[in-house]
Amino acid sequence: MTGDSFFITNVHLAYSDPSLESKLWSVECHKGKVVNVTSYIKEEPSSTKCELDAGGGVLLPSLCHSHIHLDKCFILDRCDLISGYEAKIPSVYTAQPRSYSSSRDFKEAMKVTGSAKAGFSLDKEDLLRRGLKLIRESVECGVTSMRAHIEVDVQAGFSGLDVALHLKEEVRLACHVQIAVFAQEPLFSSAEDTDPGPNFHLLVQAVRRPGVEVIGSAPYVEPTIEQAKKNIALIFELASRSSITLIDFHLDYNLNPNSEPLIYEVIKQARNFCNSWKADSSKLFRRRITIGHATRLQLFTPEEWRHLQDAIRDLPITFVGLPNSDMYMQGRSQANQPLGAPRSTLRVPYLSDKYDLQIAMSVNNVENAFTPQGSVDPLALCTFGAAVFQAATKTDIQILTKAVTITSKVAIGQTNVPLDLFPQPGDTADFVILHGIRTLRQAVLNPPHNRTTIRNGIIVACRRTRRWSAVQKLHVPQTITPISWWWYMLFPICWPCLLINWVSEPRKSHLGTVILFIRVHID
Ligand SMILES: [Zn+2]
Repeated sequence: MTGDSFFITNVHLAYSDPSLESKLWSVECHKGKVVNVTSYIKEEPSSTKCELDAGGGVLLPSLCHSHIHLDKCFILDRCDLISGYEAKIPSVYTAQPRSYSSSRDFKEAMKVTGSAKAGFSLDKEDLLRRGLKLIRESVECGVTSMRAHIEVDVQAGFSGLDVALHLKEEVRLACHVQIAVFAQEPLFSSAEDTDPGPNFHLLVQAVRRPGVEVIGSAPYVEPTIEQAKKNIALIFELASRSSITLIDFHLDYNLNPNSEPLIYEVIKQARNFCNSWKADSSKLFRRRITIGHATRLQLFTPEEWRHLQDAIRDLPITFVGLPNSDMYMQGRSQANQPLGAPRSTLRVPYLSDKYDLQIAMSVNNVENAFTPQGSVDPLALCTFGAAVFQAATKTDIQILTKAVTITSKVAIGQTNVPLDLFPQPGDTADFVILHGIRTLRQAVLNPPHNRTTIRNGIIVACRRTRRWSAVQKLHVPQTITPISWWWYMLFPICWPCLLINWVSEPRKSHLGTVILFIRVHID
C-alpha cells in the first residue's frame, strides 16, 4: 500500500504474551488507521516509503487527559498558600456541622484561585499562553485528546471559554481538546436559596456555544446537601435541553464516613436521563457520565462496593481518580497522627480488577493551589500509582497503563478507542512511542523522556533530551595477569622454534597459536 501509508518499524508492542512482547514489529498505517502489524525485517531505507524507525522503543496507544483544568494551570506564582484559612464546613459533608479544619486548605485553594480567576478577563493573552503551554507540553508527552474543564461563573465570566474555544481550533491537528464548561463555584448563592443564582445562568449561556461538548459541576461546593442534589439535577436537565450527552461531576471529594455518598443521587437521576436518551438513537451511543475524585468511596466495605457495582449495572458511568490532587489536598487537620494525614485516591488496579469498574486516572491540575506539584505527563501517574496502590504485577501495569490511555478515552466519550494496548487493524493510528526502553513495565515504572507522538497517522510531536555529562562512557580496566615464572624459561626456546616452524612449513604454523592458547588458559 502506498500513497498515504506510514510505517512505524523496529518497535516493541505491549503484548501480554512475553514471546510477542520481546519481538520487534512493523505497524503499517493508511489514512490514519492501522492496516497491518507484521514482524520487523530490517530493510535498506527507501526514499519512496514514509517510515519512522522507532529504534526498538515501545509503542502504546496515545495518552489522554480525561480530566484537566486548562484555565487555571500554571498560576501558582499568583496564589499565596498560607494554609490558615478557616471556615464552617458545609452540611453537605456531614450530618453534624463541625469545624471546617479538615478541608480548610481546600477552602484556601478556592479562595486564592478565585482571586486569580477574577483577573482572567483582564489578561486573555495570559490565559492563551498558559493554555497553549499545557496543550503543547501534553502533546509532547504523548497526549492526543483531553477533556479540558473551563470554569464559567461570575468571577471568570466567559474569558476562559473564549480562549479555550480558540485554542481548540488552533491545535486541532495535534490534539482533540474537548471542552467541558464547568461550575466549580456553587450554583446556589446561599443556603437559603431555592433557585439557582447567576453562576447557573452563565452556565446555561455557555452550553449554547458551538464547540462545547460537556457540562460539569462540583456539587460538593454547595452550601447544603439538598442544594448539592439540586445541582446534580440542574446539570442533567441542562444536558437534556441541549444536544450534549457528556456529563462530568467532581463528586464525593472527602474522606468523611458520616457524609452521604452522592454517587447514588447521580445514579438515580442518570437512570431517568438515560431512559430519555433511549428514545434518541443519535444520543444513545455517545452518552457518558464521568465522576471525578470520588475519594469518599474509598471508605466503602466490600459489600458497599458490590452494592454500587449492582446499582451502576449498564449505566455508562466511568470514574476518574485524580491522585496528584487527592493526595495533596486531604487529611491536613490530622497530620499529627502517627502515620501522618489520612489520604486516599481511588485504587485503580484493585477496584478495576475486583469490581469490574471503569476507573481512569488523570492529572487534574498543574501548578496551582489545588495541586502545586507534578507535571502534565499522564504516565507519571502510573509510576506514582505503582507506589500508592502497591501495584507492580503484570496485571497492575496493564490496568495502570489503560487508565491513562484506553479507559481515559472511554471516560471522555471518545468513540475511536482501541481494544487493547497493542495495535490491531482498524485502530485509529494515535500512538506514543517511548524511546530507549523495551517493555511496558519500564514505560510505567520509569517512563523515558524521549517520545514521539502520532495522531491520525501523522507525527505531531517529538521530544528528545540533549545530554552531556562529565561522567563519560564507563571505562572497564582490563586485568593484566602477571606472567608465570616458568613462561620466561620457555621464552628463549619457543619463539625461535615458532619462527623456524613458520618459515619452513607455514601451513603447520598453528603450533604458535596452540602454544599461546595454552598460555592464556593456564594463566
Ligand atoms: Zn478537577
